[in-house]
Amino acid sequence: PPPPPSAPVGRLPGGEGFSPYSGCKLFSQLPISQKTKDGLKVKYKEMSDIQRASLPHSLCGRDILGAAKTGSGKTLAFIIPVIEKLYRLRWGPEDGVGALVISPTKDLAVQLFEELKRVGKYHTLSAGLLVGGRDVKSEKERVNTLNIIICTPGRLLQHMNETPNFDCSQLQILVLDEADRILDHGFRAEVDAILGELPRVRQTLLFSATQTKSVKDLARVSLSNPEYISVHAEA
Ligand code: ADP
Ligand code: MG
Repeated sequence: PPPPPSAPVGRLPGGEGFSPYSGCKLFSQLPISQKTKDGLKVKYKEMSDIQRASLPHSLCGRDILGAAKTGSGKTLAFIIPVIEKLYRLRWGPEDGVGALVISPTKDLAVQLFEELKRVGKYHTLSAGLLVGGRDVKSEKERVNTLNIIICTPGRLLQHMNETPNFDCSQLQILVLDEADRILDHGFRAEVDAILGELPRVRQTLLFSATQTKSVKDLARVSLSNPEYISVHAEA
């Protein structure tokens, strides 16, 4: 197993792990598709600290344990690698579920979905939201046509258990967003059950505002040889 994530490592932007892109300040300097650059440039030009520190690593396929306080821009730190991963693999309608983004609440999931639609506007990947309070039956017919799924743990697990044709066996990238809040909501058992259904060979990005013991425990079972990135020692 990977070594336990030790106390806040405080790896600052451009820290120890090597990437030729660690010095980049602008999204336009990153090794990403023109489609993504075009989606970003309407609203975003300079990267925030967590984006500068993590994207050079996540874009070359590494697992990430990222900690940065609320409002620091963690969303783009995973939305960009999710899109780029599937784009580089030429993921298409027949390939099924390639990326899963797990969020603690429906409201947060809806926000992530809006950001994904904005940044991914020029891509042809399909994306969908699986959250509570919606018609689960119509979701069941659609789940396998989605390339990127944004979901809450409970609803995802419901599909894993009840939707006969739901297939995550080709999954390439998993995101656990706001992991501290996922755990605060008591979803550890659900997340463990979800992890048990996913292929072991995949990229995993775990982001959190705080680095609690339970976040480190979850990191230990979900990440493989991650880059530890903490842009604020105290989040
Ligand atoms: P977090 O998940 O860390 O709490 P978000 O990803 O929700 O933070 O981002 C917080 C706000 O900052 C959002 O309104 C987002 O549009 C904005 N933002 C994120 N990255 C950048 C950036 N590079 N430049 C300008 N604004 C940004
Ligand atoms: Mg967030």
